[in-house]
Amino acid sequence: MEYVPCNLCGADDTVVRYPCTISGHATSQDWSAYACTHDGYGRHHTIVQCRRCGLVYASPRLDEHDIVDTYEAVEDPLYLEEREGRVLTFQHHLSPMERIVGPPDGRPLLDVGCYTGVFVEIAARHGWNAWGLEPSRWAVEQAQARGLHVVQGTLDTAELPEAHFDVVTMWDVIEHLADPLGALARVRRLLQSPEPAEGRPGGGVVVHTIDIESLFARVMGARWPWLMEMHLYYFSRRTLRAMLEKCGFQIISDRPQGRYLRLGYLMNRMGALMPLAGRPAEWLITRLGLRGVAVPISLGDLFTVYARKV
Ligand SMILES: [Zn+2]
Repeated sequence: MEYVPCNLCGADDTVVRYPCTISGHATSQDWSAYACTHDGYGRHHTIVQCRRCGLVYASPRLDEHDIVDTYEAVEDPLYLEEREGRVLTFQHHLSPMERIVGPPDGRPLLDVGCYTGVFVEIAARHGWNAWGLEPSRWAVEQAQARGLHVVQGTLDTAELPEAHFDVVTMWDVIEHLADPLGALARVRRLLQSPEPAEGRPGGGVVVHTIDIESLFARVMGARWPWLMEMHLYYFSRRTLRAMLEKCGFQIISDRPQGRYLRLGYLMNRMGALMPLAGRPAEWLITRLGLRGVAVPISLGDLFTVYARKV
């Protein structure tokens, strides 16, 4: 375990926000705790808040190299079953993104932490020259089997062309990184430079993560479901904007952005949790032919920041 200074301002001056819930200071080297669909809700190391800048993060935590080793070994067959929900969510993320960063036109896009490549595949189909970057060797094999251009590694280790990409996306990834400031600095180097002569905007970065200062997170307190061992950083819209600006980005916008599920899937889960209400509801939805309808699930505690390299 290692104590870490604040990644945003460098200070070493924190107050405990949520005490550790893992008994006996056990450190989990078990990869299953880091798989995407693992329900390790409520199980986390000590979560502190920087007194100077307000950044919330886990400290002490596993050593950085152990974290990367763990992600390289992740295998998660359940994720493939949930693929449908991710496809829906990413399809809904694409249009708002293109309204801000412009149309695809074969431009190079890199999805950092792409896992099995769901977003890479959707973006490629939309006309982006889409690349993915992913540490899990198993997930990279899944993506490559679908013919996707996915590189195995991390922003620290992978060989990627510098000043090449028009857009870099990070969906639900930055909260897992040991050094988000370093990661965003590398992202900036991978992005094309602004070329004022051609009137082109600089390369765009899209970061989607959980919001520790959202109303839902504040109301839930220690019971907020995103407090979990694999989440190392808990940004707010303010702290993420500050980190992007520190790394040489100009903020374009930030907004809450949730997920999508099929109504049939949602009713099926409800039926399992609350059979008396859920089963008749599922029957009705099926009778009405509404199982395939996509519904947004938003509690306001997920958000997206769009920024561009300056
Ligand atoms: Zn700080």
